[in-house]
Amino acid sequence: MIEKNLQIIRKKLPPEVSLVAVSKFHPVERLMEAYAAGQRIFAESRPQELAAKVPQMPSDVQWHFIGHLQTNKLKMVLPYVSLVQSVDSFHLLDAIAKWARANGRVLDVLLELHLGAEQTKQGFTEEEILSICQSHCHSEQSEESIRIRGLMGMASNTEDMAQVEREFARIEALYNKIKASGMEGFDILSIGMSGDWPIAVRHGATMVRIGTDIFGPREY
Ligand SMILES: *Cc1c(COP(=O)(O)O)cnc(C)c1O
Repeated sequence: MIEKNLQIIRKKLPPEVSLVAVSKFHPVERLMEAYAAGQRIFAESRPQELAAKVPQMPSDVQWHFIGHLQTNKLKMVLPYVSLVQSVDSFHLLDAIAKWARANGRVLDVLLELHLGAEQTKQGFTEEEILSICQSHCHSEQSEESIRIRGLMGMASNTEDMAQVEREFARIEALYNKIKASGMEGFDILSIGMSGDWPIAVRHGATMVRIGTDIFGPREY
């Protein structure tokens, strides 16, 4: 089933859009099914779960972190991931930069824009993101311990697709504005999940994060 699901998605997804398999709450056997079907990028949202799965999966898997990350959990996550998609506060951004410097690493991150209507969703405002990108532009990104590679956003959990469309249009505009300012290495727009990824692709997604449409419903 997982192989079939991946085939269906890959057929519809433009080849330049990366597919991230959101494997949170699913057992390693199911991740291995996706791996056998050629999937190499997986994303997790809880530090313990990520740390437990990494050693059980082949070493050519690329791991992304997509959940809320507390700074006291950095060492459970940062050694294993190639991209932190969910940087949602100045405090976290600073802590990741500090960890990367201390460990001789350069870490790729996305800034999460607070996009949906839900108050509970994490993320920066547009103004905050612009100010972070401006200060990064003045320093050489290549000399930093973190590279801001783009933006991540989650649309509202709603049946109102016009609203989802407006939200994706808003993050697309912000992404294009920052890109147009000449920010070096800024090339990832991570939007779209199981219910809404075709809309995200129409709004310039370069990366989609899909769980349920690949693995089926999560067991909590
Ligand atoms: C769980 C999750 C997804 C995947 O959601 P599905 O609806 O299962 O595709 C995508 N992005 C984030 C940030 C998530 O937490």
